[in-house]
Amino acid sequence: MRKCCICGKQLTGMGNNPFPVKTSGRCCDNCNIKSVIPERIKQMVKDVSENKEKEEL
Ligand SMILES: [Zn+2]
Repeated sequence: MRKCCICGKQLTGMGNNPFPVKTSGRCCDNCNIKSVIPERIKQMVKDVSENKEKEEL
């Protein structure tokens, strides 16, 4: 059974990619919304301002 790699709760369905908060495992929808997406937006903003041609996400 899969568990969220951030909060440790049982995952329903496929889970979500936790990058960049974690580099392995899957995270639940709740952590995705509360932690992963804000972190991703931060990184995207940083990437855009530092290197406009880089496209990793
Ligand atoms: Zn979680």
